[in-house]
This record gives sequence, structure tokens and C-alpha cells, in this order.
Amino acid sequence: GADIRFDDVSVTYPNGFTGLKGINLSIPAGEMVGIVGLSGAGKSTLVRTINGLVPITSGRISVGNHQLTGRGEAQLRGRDLRELRSNVGMVFQSFNLARRTTVINNVLMGRLYHSPAWRTLLGAWKNDDVELAMSALERVEIVQKAYEKASSLSGGQQQRVAIARTLAQRPKVILADEPVASLDPPTSHVVMRDLQRINAELGITVVVNLHFLDLARRYSDRLIGLRSGEVVFDGPGADADESV
Ligand code: ADP
Ligand code: ADP
Repeated sequence: GADIRFDDVSVTYPNGFTGLKGINLSIPAGEMVGIVGLSGAGKSTLVRTINGLVPITSGRISVGNHQLTGRGEAQLRGRDLRELRSNVGMVFQSFNLARRTTVINNVLMGRLYHSPAWRTLLGAWKNDDVELAMSALERVEIVQKAYEKASSLSGGQQQRVAIARTLAQRPKVILADEPVASLDPPTSHVVMRDLQRINAELGITVVVNLHFLDLARRYSDRLIGLRSGEVVFDGPGADADESV
């Protein structure tokens, strides 16, 4: 895992909307953190700043030994951004799989940051890459679907493939932005259990946005509650009440 630190981080969007306001946080390596709050509270913004998907306006974020800074200082770009993203996997609500190709090809895409472009273009993967992809599929218990078309899988299965794709990149951090928002409750539990197991077994730091407080409480070591871009709760899941 990698430590994540926010020092006085604010995000103002180009249209003037406030994403985050003066966030200070320290997330130790290996922690599983749930981000909760109402719609518009800043959950998605917070998660997306950690891999540079949303640039910060001021303050500083460190992820392991990578630094992201606000305007006025250089934003990460090119090679540095690529290296940060190789260490930080991301899972979205909408899975974002290449639906027309196989599950294993999707998972191999997780090797993109670690392989030369020609290898990726030709699909000329090394055995090591294929083995890593297969073991990632085993970890989310979906290896039997490796050679099926991604579009033939259910939503929950597709999300587990997306998780396997991030695992294949051997990340230090996994960010999950509403990973279960389009899944039914039983499937949501399966996906959350996968994330929890990956966190526990591999020591990968997990930061996950969740709309539902009970899911967040059940699967996180720590909950961070946001309201209007500010932290209004930070503590063990069990202590979170309706104030979040
Ligand atoms: P949440 O994930 O908790 O629903 P968001 O981080 O998506 O919250 O949004 C926080 C605030 O930032 C909201 O006011 C939202 O309208 C605004 N916001 C989010 N994304 C954008 C964007 N791309 N452009 C402008 N404003 C945005
Ligand atoms: P190792 O030091 O050999 O990587 P670990 O105890 O870290 O051993 O990992 C045990 C298993 O989990 C190995 O098969 C390894 O390939 C796999 N593994 C470890 N870290 C990751 C990761 N970040 N993503 C995917 N698989 C991993």
C-alpha cells in the first residue's frame, strides 16, 4: 500500500463550483476508507484528485512519493502522471470495460502502464502478463469467464473484471468511485467483499465512495463524511451516525 496525504486541498471547477474546501487528511498505507455524503458533497472529486483525474486548485496531495500540487506550481504531467497512475488503480460506477473483447484482454489492459506500446497494440503479451491477469481473475473468482466476451457478463461480474484489471497493474492504491451504484444489493455485497479481501490480503490502500451509509459502515475501517466539500466526520465506521 501507499500513504495518502491531503494538505489544505481545495478544488474549484472552471464554472466556479466548489468541489473541495481546505481538506486535510492522512490515510495510512493499507487502510480501507469509505467516503460518504450526500450527492454533490465532493466524494467523487476527492477520489479523482488522488490520481490527477481532477486537478487541484490549491494545496498539496502526496501519494507514496508522488506529489500533486495546485495551480501556480506545476501539475503532474507526462511521465510523472503515468507513473502515478501505474500505482493507483481506478474503478468506476460504469465499469468502463471494452465490451466487445474478452475478459482476459480487458484485464491485460491493466498492464498498459507497464508494457511497451507496441506490445499492447499487437496483443503480444508476455507469459508473465497473462499469468498476472489470470491470478487477478482468480482473486475476484471469475477466472472461468476469462475467454468470454465482456458484454456477456452480468453487471456485478463486469465490475469484478474491472477490479481484476486494476489488480493486474499491481497498484499500491485502488480508488473506487461509486463502484456499486448500478448494482443490486446482493451483488453490491459481493463486490464490496472483493475489495475488502484485496485490501486485507494484498495490503493495497482502498478509497471507496459509497452512496449508502450502511454499506460504507460495514466494509470500511474508517469513514470520512463530506458535506459541501468539507470533512464533517472522520472516524471508525461504527461511530458514524445520521450526522454523516
Ligand atoms: P459527489 O460525488 O459527492 O456527488 P461531486 O464531487 O461530484 O460530489 O461534486 C461536488 C461539487 O462539484 C458539486 O457541486 C458538483 O456540482 C460540482 N462538480 C462536480 N464535477 C464538476 C464538473 N466537472 N464541473 C463543474 N462542477 C462540478
Ligand atoms: P510477492 O512478494 O511474491 O508479490 P505477495 O505476498 O505480495 O508476494 O503476493 C502474494 C500473491 O499476490 C502473489 O501471487 C502476487 O503475484 C499477488 N499480488 C501481490 N500484490 C499484488 C497486487 N498489487 N496486485 C495483484 N496481485 C498481487
